[in-house]
Amino acid sequence: NKTSSSNFIRNIVVEDLKNGAVSEVVTRFPPEPNGYLHIGHAKSICLNFELADEFKGRTNLRFDDTNPLKEDTEYVDAIKEDVQWLGFNWDELRFASDYFEEMYDRAVLLIKKGKAYVCDLSAEQMRETRGTLTEPGQESPYRNRSVEENLDLFARMRAGEFKDGERVLRAKIDMASPNMNFRDPVLYRIAHAHHHRTGDAWCIYPMYDYAHPLGDAIEGVTHSICTLEFEDHRPLYDWTIAECEMEAAPHQYEFARLNITNTIMSKRYLKSLVDEGIVDGWDDPRMPTISGLRRRGFTAEALRAFCREIGVARANSLVDERMLEHFIREDLKLKTLRSMAVVRPLKVVITNYPEGQVEQLEAENNAENEEMGTRLIPFSREIYIEQDDFMEDPPAKYHRLFPGNEVRLKHAYFVKCEEVIKDEAGQVIELRCTYDPETKSGSGFTGRKVKGTIHWVEATQAKAAEFRQFEPLLVDDESNADKPFLERINPNSLEVLQGFVEQGMADAAGQDKFQFFRHGYFNVDPKLSGADKLVFNRVVSLKSSFDP
Ligand code: ATP
Ligand code: MG
Ligand code: MG
Repeated sequence: NKTSSSNFIRNIVVEDLKNGAVSEVVTRFPPEPNGYLHIGHAKSICLNFELADEFKGRTNLRFDDTNPLKEDTEYVDAIKEDVQWLGFNWDELRFASDYFEEMYDRAVLLIKKGKAYVCDLSAEQMRETRGTLTEPGQESPYRNRSVEENLDLFARMRAGEFKDGERVLRAKIDMASPNMNFRDPVLYRIAHAHHHRTGDAWCIYPMYDYAHPLGDAIEGVTHSICTLEFEDHRPLYDWTIAECEMEAAPHQYEFARLNITNTIMSKRYLKSLVDEGIVDGWDDPRMPTISGLRRRGFTAEALRAFCREIGVARANSLVDERMLEHFIREDLKLKTLRSMAVVRPLKVVITNYPEGQVEQLEAENNAENEEMGTRLIPFSREIYIEQDDFMEDPPAKYHRLFPGNEVRLKHAYFVKCEEVIKDEAGQVIELRCTYDPETKSGSGFTGRKVKGTIHWVEATQAKAAEFRQFEPLLVDDESNADKPFLERINPNSLEVLQGFVEQGMADAAGQDKFQFFRHGYFNVDPKLSGADKLVFNRVVSLKSSFDP
């Protein structure tokens, strides 16, 4: 079941195993704990774990915790939960910070080999002397410090003698290299900051380009998979492994990151939505985070199927958001109870139905999956229907309720609209209808036909419920494209409606999923729902014009 789809990285793995380049495939998923995971990360998680699983290899979860200013254990915990929820178990849980001592020792080795030096230029001076793609950079005046002086200064950097930004350790490679990453990249910087794991033990921290290859090598990772923007960093990755004299020789492979239409795919932007209070946390159901998608009602199965379908390529592309919706519909279609919910209620009194009587009608639980059986739903003189299912003055093709028209109530009877009750402001507040007992659903009645079927909920036993429906967080039109991110926020991304569900739904618990007839798939919000209140998030509507 968990096999990776064929892709160029899988082909490399197959080849490496066949020709003995590796005896076991070892991958890692390396998130920085500076935010929650999003659907883009899910692609990387699936790729790394499924690849190793398929070939009986191993996958580590390694936190890339080299930037204490932005990182936190809250994120570590959330990331672990999300990876497990997606259905994956790491072989070992590691942190880049586990290797700080070894990384330091290897940096000392680089200094001794004349491959690294302490540089006193400021960040700005370094930027100014880095050159451009067409101009070589200028060598730092500190580049030719003696090994002794470098060893002494680096030890004092570690000891905390200097302030943030006063000095860095740089690799000594080639300031004229056409690859900008080779122009004496920074390996260590000073940051007097409390680290969520190492506390105040360190005040120097390794840079990604130095820490990542070493972490991979220490763990025996064979295939280090990352996104395309790191392609230019690969020579530095190889340089670090070689010059630090690591025993293992992992290789880096790059693939195109996932982008989805109408979807914010950057932790930085997602964090600003949280920080600005525009959403209700990282797991707000509008967020494309794994925790947001989960709370919205997406399943791990659907996310994995989606990741498999989009595949792994080296060309950047934009995936249609409807593809993700397709997979959740597919997953929920046969599994979920199909019941009735009224999200904008309009009361209907059936005047010829005996007062005080309640009957139980049989309703199938899923029209496409008979195995799900049937349930009984109450019917009486008072029901709710959707406001949208009535029009006083309808256009020609309107087949739902209007004065004098008859419709079928799903699982029940034909009803005919006899009278419209309005309040003082002229708002329709109630309909008076009659029903025809002969037309009971399942009775085989063929006397006459009606064109419309609408859903309803019996009023006296109905369970009050809140429905939350969503639109994309960003307004995505051309005129908007140049505006700053926070000015592109869609003011209508959340719609909250108060209505009713069938009385049988009273026991619904957080994360339970349903299909509400004609409305779509819904998930019980695990945070907002409680004993006295049911809150449903709409996962996705029923219809789509898209099938991959
Ligand atoms: P962001 O740019 O959103 O901050 P990141 O790449 O900085 O993401 P990391 O925590 O460093 O976040 O990412 C962990 C892993 O997930 C990396 O290997 C990264 O390449 C991968 N990844 C991140 N975003 C995507 C994406 N959109 N598609 C595929 N893989 C991704
Ligand atoms: Mg990163
Ligand atoms: Mg990042």
